[in-house]
Amino acid sequence: MKNIKDYNLEELKQEMQEIGEKPFRAEQIFKWIYQEKVKTFDEMTNLSLELRKKLEEKYTLCNYNIQRKQESKDGTIKYLFDVLDGNAIETVLMRYHHGNSICVSSQIGCKMGCKFCASTGINFIRSLTSGEIVEQIIAVEQDTGEKISNVVFMGIGEPFDNYDNVVNAIKIINHPKGLNIGARHISISTSGLVPKIYQLAEENIQCTLSISLHATDNEKRSSMMPVNDAYPIEELMKACKDYIKKTNRRISFEYALAKDNNDNLEDAKQLVKLLKGMLCHVNLIPINKIENGKYDKSSNENIMKFRDYLNDHGIVATIRRELGSDIDAACGQLRRKELRD
Ligand code: SAH
Repeated sequence: MKNIKDYNLEELKQEMQEIGEKPFRAEQIFKWIYQEKVKTFDEMTNLSLELRKKLEEKYTLCNYNIQRKQESKDGTIKYLFDVLDGNAIETVLMRYHHGNSICVSSQIGCKMGCKFCASTGINFIRSLTSGEIVEQIIAVEQDTGEKISNVVFMGIGEPFDNYDNVVNAIKIINHPKGLNIGARHISISTSGLVPKIYQLAEENIQCTLSISLHATDNEKRSSMMPVNDAYPIEELMKACKDYIKKTNRRISFEYALAKDNNDNLEDAKQLVKLLKGMLCHVNLIPINKIENGKYDKSSNENIMKFRDYLNDHGIVATIRRELGSDIDAACGQLRRKELRD
């Protein structure tokens, strides 16, 4: 059966026509799903009993079960959702003073193989459908009763390796009749699949693009991220410049600081050189050490020095707050731990 949450509004209108219904039914259904957040077709009381039955027979609403929920002392919650085919995914809710942010997964497992990321330790199983991506937000809002105002595609998986479903999910998340979360409050993070950066620049979506850079020379970046062999730094930067030119939007570069690897002032100097004059921002992430990982976290002193060097040399840089590290919910700590063990 098809998951009704896989359709964006235009597609659902077409779908309704195909089953002999008026297109406005799609808007009614959207309202029930994304605004009222009902869990059954039966609750859609402005639809006839007959139509509710028809929908029930043709589609599923794909409600997730919470397999596990862990709450950090900083208020962050990590969910393990059962995605109904025997697999599970992790989603993290982060509470900031400016609102709630959700970190969603885009795939079950990841193919990228970044050496510092725990998601690398799990086999790639499959990509999530757009409905399965969107469901993470609905399920967290249902569970907490709190509104989510920001969405980051920084959970398990490489969003650009599941491009079409991620873009379609964004259409549903962003639509005023969908979850109605402003595009500027949606970020996609990529390890650097260059062709998709060009593709995103052509879409009419005002979301934020984050690039996992982490190093400024090919040798070091390849040693951390195998994807760099396919798309080296020069090609990545060319695509980023093209993206900025076409969209006039700022790119956020993520740089995870690992002790004695990429965290000294010479690295900062090279980073300034690489990014000089670009419309961008650098997000420094204190690296979270993973089980059997070879990278250690930089000292706070080094992290601050690195940030200050960038800021003093014309590159806006901030340090990402570490949320949820006590429950393995921080950057790079997501994995289906219990399924793997
Ligand atoms: N696949 C996407 C999203 C991944 S996670 C990407 O690669 O961008 C979001 C960010 O966390 C990425 O910048 C990723 O490189 C970073 N990250 C992964 N493991 C980490 C770790 N152990 N410590 C700190 N940051 C990490």
